[in-house]
Amino acid sequence: MKAFKSISYVWEGRPQQVGDGFVGQSMIPSQRFQDFSPFLMLDHHGPMQVKPSPVPKGVDEHPHRGIETVTVVFEGALQHRDSAGNKGTIFAGDVQWMSAASGLVHEEKHEINFSRKGGTLDFVQLWVNLPRAHKMEAPRYQELTAAQIPVLQINDQTKLRLISGELNGLKGPALTYTPVLLAEVIIEGSSEFELQLPENYNVAIHVAQGEIALNDTQGIKAKRIAKLSQQGEWVSVATQGGMTRLLILGGEPINEPIASYGPFVMNTQAEIMQTLQDYQSGKMGFLEPVEY
Ligand code: MN
Repeated sequence: MKAFKSISYVWEGRPQQVGDGFVGQSMIPSQRFQDFSPFLMLDHHGPMQVKPSPVPKGVDEHPHRGIETVTVVFEGALQHRDSAGNKGTIFAGDVQWMSAASGLVHEEKHEINFSRKGGTLDFVQLWVNLPRAHKMEAPRYQELTAAQIPVLQINDQTKLRLISGELNGLKGPALTYTPVLLAEVIIEGSSEFELQLPENYNVAIHVAQGEIALNDTQGIKAKRIAKLSQQGEWVSVATQGGMTRLLILGGEPINEPIASYGPFVMNTQAEIMQTLQDYQSGKMGFLEPVEY
């Protein structure tokens, strides 16, 4: 007998805008992050129409400490640079896994050529908490291109891209500090399949596009996130045509206290105070100005 996970609840994303270039929904809001540990936040920016602009929009220089930011681009393109010296572009299908750890400042913008031309932008950004033991390590930057991400063909209509963790004997390329499963599922047309997901992980399925039936629950639409029970392993997914995109999040909960202040997530209030001091005294570095 297969033990199925049950749906704990389905949460609807709340509209939000980040910076001057990212409009979408907050899917994992901060008041619920304990339910999703190690995940602290999931923003789904888009799909949005970007008007041509010679100066790329997005989010200007800002800091992070104690977390990782994971950016998965579905459509359009982004560019990034940070005070740890990393610079990169993230095109459709690519993933950027940035561990801010002890701290950096970065900017996240529409990619320059995409910005000049304009077009559809659709991406998610996930914040993954770091355990106490790794919060103050040096930053780490992983840029994974679409070609590096293994694909599991589930059936003719359904493929799964495994970004991190293990599933069906496949291993995702992203290095993580605690066990994290991150996968994107792309379904073209009507499909029905079952997936075996880890037990004792916090697991959620974000419907980025389309509509699914999950186990016995019909009609879970785009911009909804279904939180699943830690108990059980299996889920069944069905679609009735069109294009569907899912993001599957799974992670071993980090059972440590959380003290957070905006982009800083530590374990204690004293560490947050120290973090603010470090940021204000320039310990997280600076970005050189750029002329467009
Ligand atoms: Mn950021």
